[in-house]
Order: sequence, then C-alpha cells, then structure tokens
Amino acid sequence: LYGCVVAALTAISEWHERLAFLQSLLLDHHSEELNLLNKELERIAHEDALTGIANRRSFDDMARKEWDRALRDKQPLSLLLIDVDYFKRFNDFYGHSAGDICLQKIGQALQQSVMRSSDIVARYGGEEFIILLPNTKDAGGIEVATRIIDAVDALNIPHQQSDTHSHVSISVGVSTLVASPNLSIASLIHQADVALYKAKEMGRHQYVVYEELLPKPKSPPEAFASA
Ligand code: GH3
Ligand code: MG
Ligand code: MG
Repeated sequence: LYGCVVAALTAISEWHERLAFLQSLLLDHHSEELNLLNKELERIAHEDALTGIANRRSFDDMARKEWDRALRDKQPLSLLLIDVDYFKRFNDFYGHSAGDICLQKIGQALQQSVMRSSDIVARYGGEEFIILLPNTKDAGGIEVATRIIDAVDALNIPHQQSDTHSHVSISVGVSTLVASPNLSIASLIHQADVALYKAKEMGRHQYVVYEELLPKPKSPPEAFASA
C-alpha cells in the first residue's frame, strides 16, 4: 500500500511539473506573439497606408532627430518638397483609383532614388512628398532633385490633361541649411515650400533652389571695383 501511495504522489508531482512547463511554453509563445503584434503596429503607425513609404508623423520624428544631430555636428541638410503637377485634373480624368496607383508608383520611385540609408523619403500630404538628405550640401540636393524628376518621367504615366507634358510630372523645391540654434527644421521646410511655389509658377516639371531666389549681394561701386 505504501509503495502505491508513493508511486501515486510521484506521478502527481510529475504531472504538476509538466503542467508548469507547458504553461511556461504557452506564456513564452504569447509574449512572442505580442512582440510581433507590437512591431507590426509600430510599422503601421509609421507607414503611409497608400504608398508604403514613411508617413508625415514618422518624417517629423526622424527629421527632428536628424536636425539635432546636424546641430551637434554643424552639418548641412538639404530638403526637397515635391508636388505632383496637375494632379486634380489627373483624378478627374482617369479616376481616383488610377490616381492612387499613380501616387504609389511615384512614392516607390522616390524611395528608390535616394542612396544613403540616412536619407528620409515620406508622403507629406495628399500628392506631396518630402525628402530629407542629412549631411548634404546644395549640390547633393540638386543631384537628387534631378534624379527624382527623371525617375517620375521614366514611369511614363500618361496624363492627357497636363499642360506641361503628356505624362505625369513633378515639381520640386530644394533648400539647404547648415543647422544652427536660431533655425529649425521648419525653416528648411518653409524655404523648400517657397522654392516649390516658384517651380510651379515657372511652368512646373522642374526644380527651383531656394538659395538662388535670394537677392545677390550688391557688387561694389565701379570705381571701387576697378581700384
Ligand atoms: P498643381 O500642378 O498646381 O500642383 O495642381 P494640382 O491639381 O496637382 O493641385 P491641387 O492642389 O489643385 O490638387 C491636388 C489633388 O490631389 C486634389 C486631390 O483630389 C488629389 N489627391 C490628394 N490626395 C489624394 C489621394 O490620396 N489619392 C488621389 N487619388 N488623389 C489625391
Ligand atoms: Mg499640392
Ligand atoms: Mg499638385
């Protein structure tokens, strides 16, 4: 009888141990699933649902960090503000779904046009995109502006209603600043916006550099210059 009782107790204790082991496995599994779910939620929160590139909120977060870094290192940053030309007419003529597909293609083309992992490409609003190029002088900003205009041209999306081209095109405002405490990322965006407005005014399908819009320093008086 004593032997039977010992065997039964041993069996019960083993069963408890197994149960505890299975429960710990289940807990691990649940926390792993939760981790994955959290990562997925994080990704969704930072991604623009239509184009799959970064959204504005994510851009604002990343841009602030890059500005602070540039401030510490006294480095220049270039920023490109991009707007699709005559996009309302595109929607009206080809339909909203075609408009969405067009924006997806443009978003991907922009993303593929930047080279460095620190470059940030985002959808900034309806048919507006933004690119921040840390540690990049004006020449680098101009190079990327040319590349993205060409990349969108190469998509060759027909746009019968455009006054500039028979295909979809973009206009780009470019601005460069060396980070300093009396400025902010908002200054850089504002300057690119002024340049973008000018690019539209000048006929679209082109880039304009903010710094080139500024009045040139006056040349010295002739007598002084020839002295
Ligand atoms: P401009 O050359 O001066 O930029 O002219 P535009 O027609 O592109 O500018 P406007 O601001 O008048 O029109 C922008 C259009 O973009 C209007 C809106 O219907 C369209 N749009 C904005 N967001 C989306 C979107 O998510 N999907 C689609 N299909 N269209 C969008
Ligand atoms: Mg616009
Ligand atoms: Mg537009």
